[in-house]
Amino acid sequence: MNIPFLDLGGINARDREALIAAFTRVLDSGWYVLGREVEAFEAEYAAYCGTRHCIGVGNGLEALVLVLRAWLELGALKPGDEVIVPANTYIATILAITENGLTPVLVEPDKTFNLDAALIESYLSGRTRAILPVHLYGQTVNMTAINAVARKHGLKVLEDSAQAQGARHAGICAGALGDASGHSFFPSKNFGALGDAGAVTTNDSALADTLRALRNYGSHKKYENLYKGVNSRLDELQAALLRVKLTRLDADNQRRRDIAARYLNEIRHPQITLPVTGEGNEPVWHVFVVRSPARDALQRHLAGAGIGTLIHYPLPPHHQQAYGEWRERYYPLTEAIHREVLSIPVSPVMREAEVDAVIAACNAWPGQ
Ligand SMILES: *Cc1c(COP(=O)(O)O)cnc(C)c1O
Repeated sequence: MNIPFLDLGGINARDREALIAAFTRVLDSGWYVLGREVEAFEAEYAAYCGTRHCIGVGNGLEALVLVLRAWLELGALKPGDEVIVPANTYIATILAITENGLTPVLVEPDKTFNLDAALIESYLSGRTRAILPVHLYGQTVNMTAINAVARKHGLKVLEDSAQAQGARHAGICAGALGDASGHSFFPSKNFGALGDAGAVTTNDSALADTLRALRNYGSHKKYENLYKGVNSRLDELQAALLRVKLTRLDADNQRRRDIAARYLNEIRHPQITLPVTGEGNEPVWHVFVVRSPARDALQRHLAGAGIGTLIHYPLPPHHQQAYGEWRERYYPLTEAIHREVLSIPVSPVMREAEVDAVIAACNAWPGQ
């Protein structure tokens, strides 16, 4: 059996007719940037997340960049201010902070792989102004605890929801758990476009207005510029395609949950540690990440059984050449995670026999 890590073609083939119809509608409309499809998508995705506003942008990185930029424009942040962020996140989260001339303060995760709220207070300084929690691997951060720390110290909270569309904490959807949230619709995310796309969700109307201007050259009104903005617009075509895919998101997430439940119940191996779900969380299993002290041997064993796996991620941000100034820093949990994690296949188009095969192959690993 050959089980790919993720069959994106298969995922999108299920909506072939509806995606082609959406493409044709945009083609024939003669209108391709900031039009009716983007407006309709923004309303539909805001309703899905449970926020007042959704602002479509070019991609997930720019969603995060532009929220921080908007808070700089609105005076909530000043250049050089510190932003609390998990040390084990994907690099884009960190890039959004440094791109704005802000200072990332890396904090270790807890056993859920997410930012450990209990550690935050020990990292606060007079310059700390925001927390950027990341709902990594499809599980929300303990936002009850994060928001309590933020309220106590007057900090803004920007969620990175790139991996968690539809995930919930205490019944509330990712995207509606902080002051604002950045979303990525990169094709391989749970809610993926057929190209780059992203969005911000928020209940803050002043922030939403600023973001609408910033994404469009800083212009709130044609040929009048409030800010030195950028061009980061969600285009009509991706918006139309995303509207098709949104109708499937809940069912697809449920299929991922069913597969994850089987893995959690049936993978039994002394050298494989299964992921842990935090209290009040309903993850959407963007990836199913196991840990093993012999990770590379496990990966080779699964490859031998025809099972595709990936490592999210092989190098932590503080070991990237781009952040060479952090080379001497030591984050033991983050470093152990990067040495030990392995993502095994989970996707809405996996067949039950494939799930059986992944479980059997894990349990049959001789270990090391
Ligand atoms: C994918 C991702 C991003 C960036 O999204 P893009 O659309 O690829 O720019 C940011 N943060 C996290 C955690 C991601 O997984």
